[in-house]
Amino acid sequence: MSMEQCVKLQQKTIDTTFDAVIAGGGLSGIMAAIAAARENKKVILIEKQGYLGGMATAGLISPFMNYCERNSQTVANAGLFSALLKRMYDIGALETPTSRTFREQLLKIVLDKMLQETDVKVLLHAYLSAVNCENGTVRSVTVSTVSGNIEIRGKYFIDATGDGNLFALAGMEYYLRNGPEDYSQPMTTCFNVINADWDKFDLTKMNKLYARYQSEGKIKNPRENILVFSSPIKHLMHFNTTRIVKKDPCDVEDLTEAEMIGREQVYEIFNFLKEHADGMQNIELINIADEIGVRESRRVRGLYQLTEEDLLSTKKFADSIARGTYDIDIHNPNGTGTVIKQIPPHDYYTVPYRCLVPCESKNLLVAGRAISSTHQAHSSVRVMPITSCIGEAAGIAAAIACETGCAVKDVPVGRLHAALDKYGGLY
Ligand SMILES: Cc1cc2nc3c(=O)[nH]c(=O)nc-3n(C[C@H](O)[C@H](O)[C@H](O)COP(=O)(O)OP(=O)(O)OC[C@H]3O[C@@H](n4cnc5c(N)ncnc54)[C@H](O)[C@@H]3O)c2cc1C
Repeated sequence: MSMEQCVKLQQKTIDTTFDAVIAGGGLSGIMAAIAAARENKKVILIEKQGYLGGMATAGLISPFMNYCERNSQTVANAGLFSALLKRMYDIGALETPTSRTFREQLLKIVLDKMLQETDVKVLLHAYLSAVNCENGTVRSVTVSTVSGNIEIRGKYFIDATGDGNLFALAGMEYYLRNGPEDYSQPMTTCFNVINADWDKFDLTKMNKLYARYQSEGKIKNPRENILVFSSPIKHLMHFNTTRIVKKDPCDVEDLTEAEMIGREQVYEIFNFLKEHADGMQNIELINIADEIGVRESRRVRGLYQLTEEDLLSTKKFADSIARGTYDIDIHNPNGTGTVIKQIPPHDYYTVPYRCLVPCESKNLLVAGRAISSTHQAHSSVRVMPITSCIGEAAGIAAAIACETGCAVKDVPVGRLHAALDKYGGLY
């Protein structure tokens, strides 16, 4: 007979009121957390996965999109994003200081270290599941964890969940899809194969066969071609080529279906390549992203909605907090085709602070891809270098708001700019 004693779940509590509570440990949330902690604020970062990085790690998204102006070496996304690149290079996650493909497993380690060097309290495996909000003031959020549900109180909150889970649960309004009859951008399950011989692989030839197989119904993936990237890991091919259309990433049933369709498409293209592509006979499917890549979901209704026109005319807003140079890049929400519209060379557009401020909010900011933008503008602003800079600005803004006690809409832009100047941020 065992003498082992039984126990019951002890409800865990966190009795601190944080200056800034940040939901989502993707790059935008991480930058927000570091930026707020750097101003001596008491910060907590909540992440549902067991590691940080968001799409860059869980979604296997690589490379970083170009963060320079077109046809130029002039950097547009700097500040903490530059610091991240340096740290990644130092540990070998980047081959050269300016490489854009990266080793995502080493990125996880870099991000842990960057946060461990701050006073940010990080909670992994913590799923934001409820929000207590009264008249635009968020009082607390609840996270579901292995220790039970925990309430976390804060003075200011930042929604960096990508999907806008915090503002949605707070009951605030958002945009979804490109109008009620349309869909968000398609989702993509990324994957890696190893043992590929790049020298023998002929993408043009494979794309021709892919198109033929697609027209004959032998390939179900609606994407127009095979999108493949190299990696710093020799003989590894990174594929961003599945396309799951007409599913709502904010509907759990659709999301479940999308995950399964995504993996079906992974298997389809893997077999197609192994069977037909030169240099691919020995490939192994070594990694399917832990979660499907969601390009677009909720976009908050903010004090300003960034538009395609703002981007293409490279508008410079007085309350700018970040720059962007990435193209409008809309993968067809309904099937085949991708629309690209270039940002003019040697120039950049700007992201106004007001896009981070939900109309109905007193103490909640949004960072990352869920800021206030149209479907079209979102297709550019969503990429990692830009969302990182938006995150840093959100963290600074929360810290300033904390000092003055003001509503997030009243954060003095001059102070925000002064802090960005101090830390090398560009806006
Ligand atoms: C298929 C695809 C290809 C892309 N290609 C590129 C590319 O080549 N280059 C590029 O630069 N960008 C690319 N992007 C865009 C880019 O990866 C994302 O838009 C960007 O990472 C968004 O950053 P974020 O911090 O806003 O969100 P995310 O990176 O999504 O981070 C959100 C974090 O919040 C967490 N979270 C969500 N909900 C909860 C919750 N309820 N509780 C707790 N935590 C939660 C998530 O686990 C995640 O860690 C691509 C995106 C996709 C989907």
